[in-house]
This record gives sequence, C-alpha cells and structure tokens, in this order.
Amino acid sequence: MGVYFLAMSVNLKDLSLEELEALIAGLGKERYRARQIMRWLYGRGASSFEEMTDLAKELRAELSRTARISSLASLAEERSPDGTRKYLFGLEDGNQVESVLIPDDGRLTLCISTQAGCAMGCRFCLTGMGGFARDLTAGEILDQIVRVAGALEPGERLTNCVLMGMGEPLANYDRVQGALGIMASDLGFGLSRRRITLSTVGLIPQIKRLFAEGVPCRLAVSLNATTQKVRSFLMPISRRYPLSALLAACRALPLPPRERITFEYVLIQGVNDSDADAHRLTQILRGIRCKVNLIPFNECPGILFRRPQEKVVLRFQKVLMEAGYLTIIRESRGGAISAACGQLRGRITGS
Ligand code: SAH
Ligand code: SF4
Repeated sequence: MGVYFLAMSVNLKDLSLEELEALIAGLGKERYRARQIMRWLYGRGASSFEEMTDLAKELRAELSRTARISSLASLAEERSPDGTRKYLFGLEDGNQVESVLIPDDGRLTLCISTQAGCAMGCRFCLTGMGGFARDLTAGEILDQIVRVAGALEPGERLTNCVLMGMGEPLANYDRVQGALGIMASDLGFGLSRRRITLSTVGLIPQIKRLFAEGVPCRLAVSLNATTQKVRSFLMPISRRYPLSALLAACRALPLPPRERITFEYVLIQGVNDSDADAHRLTQILRGIRCKVNLIPFNECPGILFRRPQEKVVLRFQKVLMEAGYLTIIRESRGGAISAACGQLRGRITGS
C-alpha cells in the first residue's frame, strides 16, 4: 500500500466549495473563510497553511491538524522547438503523469491527465498500451494546473484547458466533475466552460450524464473509424458501446446553442484513411452539429501503425469540407519531446 492510501487527513484540493464550507463550519468558523482558502489554493498556488496570512493563526493551526494541501513533485520539464512544453509530475504513491502546454495563435492551452495510465487499451495509443494504475484524485487533476500556472513566464496566462492527456476522463467521472467545477469557478481558475474541452473514448452513459448535469466543458469524442469493425479493432470499448449507439447518443445530446461536438479522428495509414472512409464519415455524422479534428497518427516505439502521407490527409480533409464539415488538421505539437497526442506514457507502478 502506498502513502496515497495511508494519508488520513483530507486533502483540501479534493473538496468542492460546499465541502470546504462544511469543513470550516465543523471547526466552528465562518463559512466565508472557505472562499478565502480556495483563492489561496488555486489563484495563488499556496502549498502551506502558513502562507494564508489573512486567516487567524488559530484557524491555520486547526486546519493543519485536520487537513493537508497536496502538491505534485515536478520531476522534469522539456521544451520542444515548436514551443510546446511537457511536464512530468510525480504523485505521492510514485506514479507519474504528464501535462503538456501548447502555445498556439495567442492561446495557451494546457493538456492535463485524468488517470495514471488508461484501461481502455486503444491499439494506437502509447498510454493505452502501458496499462492502468489508478484514477487521479480531483486534487491531482487540479494540481497540474496549479504547477504549470505557477511556472509560466511573465506575461503568460493560461487561456484553455483540455482533458486529453493520460487517461479516460469519463472513466473517472466524479473526480473529473469535481475538478471541472473548480476550473470553471472564479475561486479556482475562472476558465469559462467554452475554454475547457473534455475528450472521451466514447462512454455513452457518462456522456449523457455530462450534459444532464451541466458539467462545465465542451465535448470531444474520439471516433477514429467509420465502421464498427475497424473501430472495435482499434478501440476495444467499441464492443461495449458500438459506433451506431455512440453516434445516436451524440445526435440526441442537448447541445447549447451554437455549440458543436468535436469528433477526433486519428488517421492511420491503410487502416482508416481511405476515400471510402472519408465519404462514409460524411454520411455517419449527418444531423450532428459537429466539427472534425483530423490527427495524423503520431508514430511511437512499439506501435506498428504508420502515419499517412500528407497528400492523403489533405484529400481526406477535402472530402469532409466539401460535404460541409468544418475540418481541422490538428498539427501535432511536441513530437520532438514525445508530447504529442498518444505519446504520453508517464511511469506507472501498478496498484
Ligand atoms: N482518453 C481520451 C483522452 C486522451 S487521448 C480519448 O481517448 O479521447 C487524446 C486523443 O489522442 C484522442 O483523440 C486519441 O484518439 C488521440 N491519440 C491517441 N494516440 C494517438 C497517436 N498515437 N497519434 C495521434 N493521436 C492519438
Ligand atoms: Fe485511453 Fe484515450 Fe489512449 Fe484510448 S486513446 S487508450 S482512451 S488515453
């Protein structure tokens, strides 16, 4: 058993505002103190109670007896020539996760992990091939933002956050939901829901729940194939939630006005990149308010797939555009430092 399971005191970064208020009320203190503490934890990145100078000494002492403030160990930072930065973080139990900061067109997007490893086993993904250790806590999800925001250069500010790092966010629903609430809150990181994107392998019940519960994020769905046969070969989860059911669920989602679902499609040479695939994609997406992100496969050691030639990628895009779908080729950033999609591995120690 790692330290993770032994830690007795509550980690304040795992709590919602309401839970923190209840904890403070339980100590016999004013509820509004919870808001002050939240600002310290996220806005100012406090790592100890001593720093919270506008709280009475007595409250700080009381808090340090009943609660703790987690933080991630910064193990490494690498910069790619294209400006992408990759951070390797150590969790308290020795597992490691990665986050990637991507400067693009005046935006600064942070891609964060939601699990140590991933249990979904998609065949084209290095994270998936490495297996699953455990879910991240809400605090561990948020701490990636705290650490990266704290290390920004003067004048830089995070503008967007994407849940597209290691792990399947909807397989860790409750913790991800908690973390998203704080990301979007003014007491946390104040990112509006349009600036947060959650990418999923396609867990249908949880996708429906996201919308039913008004979780503050936009939705991206990793489609990656146009037939059930190819999709279930690439993504084992498609046996449980078939392509047709996934598309039907997407079609029925109560999308806010003017909002679209993003479908991600990793293009793999000879597997899902034919003209027939492109035309089929235009058919199966009919009636869904959406856009498409094409991601040319990032080659990784140990995975035998190949990236299609650029002209094939452009032809695929053209077919979709001509059918009226906004289609973006997601230039893979950070390839030089293995920070691109599907190249995040971290190091997991098993559970
Ligand atoms: N588990 C979630 C989010 C993390 S994966 C999901 O699957 O959506 C983020 C994106 O990276 C997904 O769209 C996935 O299809 C893509 N991806 C994984 N491996 C890749 C690779 N080797 N090359 C390109 N994209 C990859
Ligand atoms: Fe997990 Fe997403 Fe990788 Fe599939 S693509 S193995 S769901 S991280």
